[in-house]
Amino acid sequence: MEPVRFEDLGIDDRILRAVTEMGFEEATPIQARAIPEVMTGQDIIGQAQTGTGKTASFGIPMLQMMDPKDKHVQAIVLCPTRELAIQSAEEIRKLAKFLHGIKVLPIYGGQDIVKQIRSLKGGVQVLIGTPGRVMDHMRRHTIKLDNLKMVVLDEADEMLNMGFREDIETILSQTPEERQTLLFSATMPQPIMEIARTYQKDAKIVKVVKKELTVANIEQYYYEVRPKNKEEILSRLLDIYNPALSIVFCNTKKQVDELVEGLKGRGYFAEGLHGDMKQQQRDRVMNGFRNGRTEILVATDVAARGIDVDDVDAVFNYDLPQDDEYYVHRIGRTGRAGKTGKAFTFITGREFYKLKDIQRYCRTKIMAKQVPSLNDVANVKADKIFEKVTGMIDEENLKPYIRMIEEKLEKDDYTTLDLAAAFLKMALGDDSGEKCVEVDDFGDTGAEDGMVRLFINIGKSQKARPGDILGAIAGETGIAGSLIGTIDMYDKYTFVEVPREYAKEVLVAMSSAKIKGRSINIEPANRK
Ligand code: ADP
Ligand code: MG
Repeated sequence: MEPVRFEDLGIDDRILRAVTEMGFEEATPIQARAIPEVMTGQDIIGQAQTGTGKTASFGIPMLQMMDPKDKHVQAIVLCPTRELAIQSAEEIRKLAKFLHGIKVLPIYGGQDIVKQIRSLKGGVQVLIGTPGRVMDHMRRHTIKLDNLKMVVLDEADEMLNMGFREDIETILSQTPEERQTLLFSATMPQPIMEIARTYQKDAKIVKVVKKELTVANIEQYYYEVRPKNKEEILSRLLDIYNPALSIVFCNTKKQVDELVEGLKGRGYFAEGLHGDMKQQQRDRVMNGFRNGRTEILVATDVAARGIDVDDVDAVFNYDLPQDDEYYVHRIGRTGRAGKTGKAFTFITGREFYKLKDIQRYCRTKIMAKQVPSLNDVANVKADKIFEKVTGMIDEENLKPYIRMIEEKLEKDDYTTLDLAAAFLKMALGDDSGEKCVEVDDFGDTGAEDGMVRLFINIGKSQKARPGDILGAIAGETGIAGSLIGTIDMYDKYTFVEVPREYAKEVLVAMSSAKIKGRSINIEPANRK
C-alpha cells in the first residue's frame, strides 16, 4: 500500500495540527483505511495487530463528530483495563489539543467515584472507561446517554478474554439505537463476530493483517553462489544446520518441481507446493509437513501464502524474492512464538544490489557468509555421530559387541582405531566418507602454507586464460574466487593453488568439469 498522508484523509485542520505535533508523518495502514470509513458514519470492524495505531483510527473521526457546545457524553470507548483506558485517553486528548471545548475523561475501577462524578458534572463529551465502571455510572445515572453518537469497543478480544461480555451487552443495549458502533481488535474470534452481528448494523470489515514485520528473532545470512551450484550448497546447509522443518522459496513453479526432484534424489524428505497443484495434493503436502514426515517444503510465494505452521526452523531463499515485501513474508515463517529462526538467502551476480534494497526496505541486516566446504559438512556430521556414540557408551550395554570386536581383533591384524575409523566412514555415508579428507593427504605440493598446488592439463596453447581456470573452480565448487591462490599458466598445463581444506573438493568437482569445452585432468602437483 502506498503511504497515505493525514492531509489526504479529509481531517479537520485542528486535528491535523495535533497529529503533526505528535510527530506522526503518515497514516498507518489501519488508519488510512479505517478513518475514511468511520467518517461516512457506518459501523466498522477494524482488525490490526497491536501497536498499529488503532486508537487514532477511531479517535480522529470520533473527535471530528463531537459538538463542543453539547456538554453531554457523545462518545464512549470501552477498554479492557485501566492502563489501556488511561493510555487511550491520553492519546485522544493529544489529538483533541486544538479542539476547544472538547473534554476527554478516563474512568475506571479503583479510582474515587465521587471525584469521577464531579468531573463528569463539568461536562465530558468523550468517555473512556472499563466496562464495569461505565456500568456503575449508568446505574447511578451519573452519565446520560441520550446524546450518545458513538460507542467503540477497543481491544475487543481482550475484553472478552477478561469476561466483560455481559457488561458490554448491558451497556450496548442501553444506548441509543442510532449510534455508530465501532469494534477494534487484534484478533477476530467467533464470539466477537457474534457481538458484531448483534450490536452493529452491516458492519464493514477493515482488516490489515501483516505477517510479523519484525524480523528481530531471525538470524539472516546470504551466500554468493552460481546458479548451478545452488542445489549443492542448499544440501550442505541442510546437512550442517539440520533443521527439523524448513521452507525453501523459489520464484517459479518450474524451479519448485526441479528442486524437489533434485532434493529427493539426494535423499531428503522434500515436497513441493505451487499454484498448479490441486487442492487435494496441496492438503496432502501440507499434512506431511505439519506432522514432520516432510521436512523440507519447497514453495512459491503465492502457494505459501496460506501456510500456518509455527515451528519452521529455517527459511531458504533459493531465489531472491521479486518483491522486497515478500522477503519479510518469507522469512517471517520462522522465528515465531518467541523462538529464534534462521534465514538463508542465495544471491547470484548483480542480485547483490537487490539485496541492498531489501535490507533498506526491511531495516534489517543480512550478513555475508562463506559457502561451507564439504569438509565443514563432514565435520558437522561426524560431531553428531560422536555425540550419539558417546551417549550409547554411557547408557547402553555394549558387552556383546565388545566381545565381537575382540574376536575380530584376535583373528585379524587390525587395531581398534582401524575398526573405529571404518565404522565412522560407514556412518558418515559412502559419499562424504569419500570426500572427507585428511589435510595431509596431499603431502608437500610446493604450494604456499595452507594451500595445495594442483596440476591441470590445459594451458595457453588451448587458448585457456587464468580467468577460465578461476571461473571453472569457483563455478564447480562455490568457493569464492578470492580464496583461490596463484595460477601459473604454461603452454600445455597450469598450476593453481587452492586452500588445503578445499583441495579434495576441487579435485572431486573438477574431475568431471570442462574448461574451454575440453574435459580435463586434474591432480595434486608433485614436488620437484
Ligand atoms: P494499537 O491500539 O493498535 O495497539 P496504538 O493506537 O496504541 O496502537 O498506537 C501505538 C503507538 O503508535 C502509540 O504510541 C501511538 O502514538 C503511535 N502512533 C499511532 N499512529 C501513528 C502514526 N501514524 N505514526 C507514528 N506513530 C503512530
Ligand atoms: Mg489499542
